[in-house]
Amino acid sequence: MPTASFEILPSNQPMADELRENILKNPGFGRYFTDHMAHIRWSGDADWHGHQVRPYGPLTLDPAASVLHYGQEIFEGIKAYRHADGSIWTFRPEKNAERFRRSARRLALPELSDEDFIGSLKALLAQDHAWVPTPASASDECSLYLRPFMIASEAFLGVRPSQEVDYYVIASPAAAYFKGGVAPVSIWLSSNYKRAAAGGTGFAKCGGNYAASLAAQKEAEAHQCGQVAFLDAAENKWVEELGGMNLFFVFKDGRLVTPRLTDTILEGVTRNSVLTLAKDEGLTPEERPISIDEWREGAASGEITEIFACGTAAVITPVGELVTENERIQLTASGNNEVAMRLRTKLLDLQYGRSEDKYGWLTKLV
Ligand SMILES: *Cc1c(COP(=O)(O)O)cnc(C)c1O
Repeated sequence: MPTASFEILPSNQPMADELRENILKNPGFGRYFTDHMAHIRWSGDADWHGHQVRPYGPLTLDPAASVLHYGQEIFEGIKAYRHADGSIWTFRPEKNAERFRRSARRLALPELSDEDFIGSLKALLAQDHAWVPTPASASDECSLYLRPFMIASEAFLGVRPSQEVDYYVIASPAAAYFKGGVAPVSIWLSSNYKRAAAGGTGFAKCGGNYAASLAAQKEAEAHQCGQVAFLDAAENKWVEELGGMNLFFVFKDGRLVTPRLTDTILEGVTRNSVLTLAKDEGLTPEERPISIDEWREGAASGEITEIFACGTAAVITPVGELVTENERIQLTASGNNEVAMRLRTKLLDLQYGRSEDKYGWLTKLV
């Protein structure tokens, strides 16, 4: 399929080089946005059309737009990395494009092709490449975070799939997730709330899942925890994932266990990549149900030596402890997170072009 060409409407007030360079020195996460955004429109009778890269700025949305009332919305998260030679790459974008279509089907939104999804990232980066920070060293994990999203924009309060839809990509420079090195996080086990139920939207990346997780996130913060772990809704027994990251358990004998995919678990691109890299590291990946009892007992006995969470934003994050209303589940094993850190370095070396791309996971953007 030919790549649709994007009409370029350049910003007449791009940020001055000096100001941008200042932001790139300390961008934080999700606070600053580049000069442009990509946009493609869809309507029931005209399919995808009107491909544009235009100045970043507020959207004009009818107050009756169905996204504002019924939450018909999906999104993606993917990063652009600057390599040592100045070129800019992204990681497995076809996986994100495929997931975006899975999410779209569940939310009754139109599917976007790989060509349009990856084409929109390339078209945006062609304009805004100066916003991709340059790592100062191999431990500097800066990047440009890309946020494709799709919203139902038809002005109609009837409950049915919107006949007008807009797809956008915005971009935000991001510093390393952890300032001053990777530190294990404490995780709150939510007992009041569930993230997903069978037949629901758990496997789709939609804003509604995140909206529903915020009350649990507040609870976590009240208990000094940075993240929430969710159990399954049916039996309140099986470990699923965090609000926005998948979970892995490292066993003493070299098994690497992650909950098997169901329609209540979001399939992370990082999760999938870790399963592949783990084999190269001599680990034995296992996708299977893992219960909260196995977590508790494995942590106590030393059978489980490490636990980590993974996702695009934070890459791989060691889990220090699991906190519940009445217990703290800590690992009694050495706890040096050696496996998590080794996998983390492997993944980052690939993404930043410091090791051979033997799986063909990188796509050049600029
Ligand atoms: C995005 C997301 C992940 C991580 O996916 P990656 O593709 O690895 O970034 C995990 N769980 C949930 C619920 C998510 O929304």
